[in-house]
Amino acid sequence: RRPRWRERPTPRPGVLAIEAYVPGKSGVPGAGKVYKLSSNETPLGPSPAAVAALRETAGGLALYPDGSSTALRAAIARKFGLDPERIVCGAGSDELLSLLAYAYVGPGDEGIYAEHGFLVYRIAILAAGGTPVVAPERDLTADVDAILAAVTPRTRIVYVANPNNPTGTYLPFPEVRRLHAGLPANVLLVLDGAYAEYVRANDYSAGLDLVLGSENVVMTRTFSKIHGLAALRIGWMVGPAAVVDAVNRIRGPFNLSSAGIAAGAAAIADEAHVAAAAAHNADWLPRLTEAVRGLGLTVTPSVGNFILVHFPDGAGRDAAAADAFLTGRGVITRRVASYGLPNALRVTVGSAEANEAFLAALGDFLRGPAHG
Ligand SMILES: *Cc1c(COP(=O)(O)O)cnc(C)c1O
Repeated sequence: RRPRWRERPTPRPGVLAIEAYVPGKSGVPGAGKVYKLSSNETPLGPSPAAVAALRETAGGLALYPDGSSTALRAAIARKFGLDPERIVCGAGSDELLSLLAYAYVGPGDEGIYAEHGFLVYRIAILAAGGTPVVAPERDLTADVDAILAAVTPRTRIVYVANPNNPTGTYLPFPEVRRLHAGLPANVLLVLDGAYAEYVRANDYSAGLDLVLGSENVVMTRTFSKIHGLAALRIGWMVGPAAVVDAVNRIRGPFNLSSAGIAAGAAAIADEAHVAAAAAHNADWLPRLTEAVRGLGLTVTPSVGNFILVHFPDGAGRDAAAADAFLTGRGVITRRVASYGLPNALRVTVGSAEANEAFLAALGDFLRGPAHG
């Protein structure tokens, strides 16, 4: 046995199995104008009302924030017709996704997510000590039958991003209902609606009715996407009283900043700003999709604020070569090899100027000499 002084602290099992989340690139050294289309941020920026509310908090930085995020929960409750007691705010919805795993998953327990589902779910399950279980997808879309087939007596939580990142695909609400109906009552279903505001499909619902009518469904939402407040880290969830109680027991007592509380409350009240961002996306999403298809590439049909573009294998025109070429032109997109999609790029719907720059650079890449 080694002497004691040579020992060192060892993380719990599972922690070292985590591959740390790698965010989209945010800059290009030495490039001129840069178009960042790698993190699904809104080209419209935040509501001016949110920025003004943020500035007003500057005078109170020495004081702890309201640990219950009362003003923000009230603003969310007003907008969605909810009881504020059923809402918990988080430092981004990522924090809530993790807290749900910490509260409901432990060693020996399983958490399910779909094959190309958002990677934070895997990290949350492993960090809680649980075992991640991956359900295969069909057509890059979560498959309700496959998820239900993956359920065992050890299943504690199922995460579904609807629509999903990075695929942009979604489950129609009848399918979400069928998933819920097939789950044992002791399994928590987490519906991650990070892109809900962008969806125009008639058969889509973020799932609020399901949350309010059951004891085992939670919906998470974020201020990072359509509200343009990613830097402030603001998210929220609505769920059954017992789940809200559990999360409130384990969350940090001051998990949101005063700035986040104030800016979030102002942002959710600015419905015109949200509508403008949704309209910009509804205009550009089909245009971008069709234009890329016109260049001969496959694009997965998306209902979010991004598209998944598939490249031909090899011949110097694959996703890695495209990524390098686009980066050289100041257009930053997201490689998604870590999602099991080695030959695709995820591209955010940006400003008109950014979208045009992307399309021009992509056309040059495909027409030019083969790379790599
Ligand atoms: C961006 C994103 C989130 C939001 O994360 P925040 O922590 O709120 O910034 C959540 N889920 C999915 C699927 C996302 O793509």
